[in-house]
Amino acid sequence: MTQALVLFSGGQDSTTCLAFALARFNHVETIGFDYGQRHRIELDQRGRIREQIKTIDPLWAQRLGDDHLIDLGVLGQISATAMTRDVAITIEANGLPNTFVPGRNLVFLAFAAAVAYRRGLQHIVGGMCETDFSGYPDCRDATIKAMQTALNLGMEAKFSLETPLMWLDKAATWTLAEELGGPALVDLILEETHTCYLGERGMRHEWGYGCGTCPACTLRARGWAKYRAEAATKTGRPA
Ligand code: ZN
Repeated sequence: MTQALVLFSGGQDSTTCLAFALARFNHVETIGFDYGQRHRIELDQRGRIREQIKTIDPLWAQRLGDDHLIDLGVLGQISATAMTRDVAITIEANGLPNTFVPGRNLVFLAFAAAVAYRRGLQHIVGGMCETDFSGYPDCRDATIKAMQTALNLGMEAKFSLETPLMWLDKAATWTLAEELGGPALVDLILEETHTCYLGERGMRHEWGYGCGTCPACTLRARGWAKYRAEAATKTGRPA
């Protein structure tokens, strides 16, 4: 019996991670964090995605267990960043985008491990990715490996922190989704996942909903275009 906890925000990456876990583990629970993020709308999408992903494969429906939504409002209080405040997204003097909430993923992983410990879940799956590096040092592979060591020491546990997207670019993440759940999963991710930092869902682009100009939308649009172009090359059909 293999059991996993997926860090599930309702975005493209974490939904792909959820499918990855459902394809691999016998029992899968999800965890999300409300920290006063401006793109809080993604939290509303979580329930919809969890319901719809069950329709893709009957086995996935069997395997999907509880959801845990954790209130981390305190993280919004201590971080004055563009992720939690209504200010323009820019690159700061230290080279990091001002959407960076310092140590956010470390906090998430610590809370996820505490829940996993209580629930008896050994695998913790997250969508951290180093390839399309957005300047978040807490997404680096070395950071995650160090965190795994710290959590296992600090909780006397044997957690395995798994980051299936670590070395994939956004186009490859779409390809992984297609391999895991076929066109139905690609459609679900396209329609229901939320990525835009500004929480904009009014406008439907060919890559999904978003403002179209923030760094998260730009990355998603570029990844979708590359994925479609690669698919067209493979099949010989136009994108
Ligand atoms: Zn956007």
